[in-house]
Amino acid sequence: MNEHLLKILIVGDGNVGKSSFVHRYVNGQFNKTYKMTMGVDYSVKMLLWSDKEKVRLQLWDIAGQERFISMNRVYYKGAVGCVVMFDVTSSDSFLSCCHWKRDLDNKAMLPSGDSIPCILLANKCDLAQRVVTADRIDRFSKANGFVTWMEVSVKDNKNIGEAMRRLVQEILSV
Ligand code: GDP
Repeated sequence: MNEHLLKILIVGDGNVGKSSFVHRYVNGQFNKTYKMTMGVDYSVKMLLWSDKEKVRLQLWDIAGQERFISMNRVYYKGAVGCVVMFDVTSSDSFLSCCHWKRDLDNKAMLPSGDSIPCILLANKCDLAQRVVTADRIDRFSKANGFVTWMEVSVKDNKNIGEAMRRLVQEILSV
């Protein structure tokens, strides 16, 4: 059996749901008070990709470093894919995705020199106080070179596994 080790970054403003996303995806839980243990660099999730391939995902949550906006290069080193997340009830968190993507394109490169595949996730779509429209997200996603974008709800477990499979599929195809 072939095993791929993939380092994936989870970036976005504070409070958009990054830690909850990783916790949900890895442990299958949503816990309102959950906070990632400080000092833990990454979480691991194994996927059986096909009858010949396994994928070991290393999910690097920036946990509390959001305020620096521009991340340390060490964090980006060796990353082959990224989740850029915002909260559909926060216009500011959506606008920040532009900075996150630019920072990634500058610092996180594949050995080929290409930028790493990024998926844009619109979280908290379970909430009624939505302010960022699908049309706006779609235009932004296309203009900024994202693989695709998806609406997710970590709370309702909507599109979490689907989003990660889509990203892994893109990573393995480059
Ligand atoms: P982080 O700072 O980006 O890591 O965000 P957290 O994972 O700490 O989540 C911030 C807050 O948003 C917490 O109170 C979560 O319970 C809440 N949250 C995360 N995902 C969702 C979601 O899909 N829907 C709703 N309604 N709340 C969410």
